[in-house]
Amino acid sequence: MSVTHRLTAPAPGWTAATDVVVVGSGVAGLTVALNVRKAGLRAMVVTKAVLDEGSTRWAQGGIAAALGEGDTPEQHLDDTLVAGAGLCDEEAVRTLVTEGPDAVRRLIATGALFDRGEDGEILLTREGGHHRRRIAHAGGDATGAEISRALVAAVRTDPGIELIEHALVLDLLTDTEGHAAGLTLHVMGEGQRDGVGAVRARAVVLATGGMGQVFSATTNPAVSTGDGVALALRAGAAVTDLEFVQFHPTPLWVGPDAEGQLPLISEAVRGEGAHLVDAGGVRFMVGQHELAELAPRDIVAKAITRRMQEQGADHMFLDGRHFGAEMWEHRFPTILATCRAHGIDPVTAPIPIAPAAHYASGGVRTDPRGRTSVPGLYACGEVACTGVHGANRLASNSLLEGLVFAERIAADLAGRHAAGELPERTVDVAAARAARPVPLPPSEARAEIQRLMSRGAGVLRSAASMADAAAGLALIAEQAHSHVAEEKPADPRVETWEAANLLLVATALVAAAAQREETRGCHWREDFPERDDAHWRRHLITTLAASGDPVSTPEEQ
Ligand SMILES: Cc1cc2nc3c(=O)[nH]c(=O)nc-3n(C[C@H](O)[C@H](O)[C@H](O)COP(=O)(O)OP(=O)(O)OC[C@H]3O[C@@H](n4cnc5c(N)ncnc54)[C@H](O)[C@@H]3O)c2cc1C
Repeated sequence: MSVTHRLTAPAPGWTAATDVVVVGSGVAGLTVALNVRKAGLRAMVVTKAVLDEGSTRWAQGGIAAALGEGDTPEQHLDDTLVAGAGLCDEEAVRTLVTEGPDAVRRLIATGALFDRGEDGEILLTREGGHHRRRIAHAGGDATGAEISRALVAAVRTDPGIELIEHALVLDLLTDTEGHAAGLTLHVMGEGQRDGVGAVRARAVVLATGGMGQVFSATTNPAVSTGDGVALALRAGAAVTDLEFVQFHPTPLWVGPDAEGQLPLISEAVRGEGAHLVDAGGVRFMVGQHELAELAPRDIVAKAITRRMQEQGADHMFLDGRHFGAEMWEHRFPTILATCRAHGIDPVTAPIPIAPAAHYASGGVRTDPRGRTSVPGLYACGEVACTGVHGANRLASNSLLEGLVFAERIAADLAGRHAAGELPERTVDVAAARAARPVPLPPSEARAEIQRLMSRGAGVLRSAASMADAAAGLALIAEQAHSHVAEEKPADPRVETWEAANLLLVATALVAAAAQREETRGCHWREDFPERDDAHWRRHLITTLAASGDPVSTPEEQ
């Protein structure tokens, strides 16, 4: 039997049971829950904070789908493959773009209200890397908030979906066959479900979102600590493409020492014609790419970072003054309000911006049905790597991926249930006890991990910068081990479990990024500036060794 690992935590003090337990309440998790109900399965959604506290609610620009006249899934496929820089799984992309339009229509049927023109047709905008207007949006620039509102309202009215908020999932539980049989979690509740407990289920779905909090500057909310990837690694699952972190080119620059979640100035602002300029007002993207400001995100983020380095500046500017007040107020009300709250008026002044970690293209490896390499463990949304993004995600493909692959997981579970292949599971308690406990770093390690990652494995990377990051991370791990040996371990609690997850994900990410000696998609190596298809047109698959260290192996070509 392979060695598995678990976070250091007290033994479960309570138990609950359901058919399908879904971890996370963003677009992916809630879509799975709503759809497994159609197959007559009970669902339990457990979520770390409140229901709408993930990235989904922050999504601004919209959701991409070939809904417009003259647009086709084939053209959407072409744009996605170009952005993915040779590493997309073409079949997964084909699934995304062909099932996408109907998935959006089903989302609308669930209650999501998209912006429509006077003729009643859905309004579509353009974003970087798209050669067509195919981004549907809601509330101007509040697409994610509307999707979240509609899905939360739908799950709340379904008595077959149990919702547990303030519940941090720790680790997977399996049966004697190694099939997922539930999970352990810590609930900050009261009454019967308080403290560490266990949920038994026929299948487990990870929909825990991204890992932006691994870096100090990110657009992701505080809950995006990579827990699902860390849990999957500890459970023995394969993860892939961790090195492909997308840095958003234009989060609002709020000062030199900014940390945590930064406000985002959506790509749609450039889609509508805003210009990137330096302090001298020069449009530096013109001439660098045929799409200028609308080039794929990695190109724009790198061009901004380079310009900042050349000019010794810590930010550049996005100039949308020519939109005029009326357009700002109607098309981008949220962004306008956010900028004004930070003392900048985009109607009269260019907006200061600088790149920050935004999206994890990699994650827990899944097949087209959302199955991971651990039987009964599924993953969808940002935590998963279905293969649709390759080395770089095309803007607004992620909400769509969450929808489409969540529906596919529900369909797979429904099919297995109908075929009698989804029996109740009995947790193998001995296996759970035999899993090796991971020593916990102190909660202060979070900020240090973030600093190391932003400095060493950010937009521009090199062997030297990543060696520094790896050494710093190894030191944090060593200290956690020695504190256990000295019998003064960190307390098992939310902050230290999150720090342990961040440490594992960061270590795995740096190991993969250091191994990939080329520049591709959103992975930019200063010391290997060329794309190297001969050696690197393949994925790195990461698993945990018995020691608990992540090991990345190049996939066979
Ligand atoms: C500012 C911003 C703007 C964006 N704009 C767009 C856009 O315009 N278009 C687009 O397509 N994409 C956009 N994205 C990306 C997109 O929003 C996300 O990729 C997508 O919403 C992820 O959905 P999800 O369901 O996978 O995860 P999330 O919505 O992040 O939800 C994850 C859930 O998991 C829970 N969770 C995490 N860990 C645990 C744990 N250990 N235990 C229990 N629960 C846990 C969280 O609390 C949360 O409920 C944007 C992202 C950001 C941050």
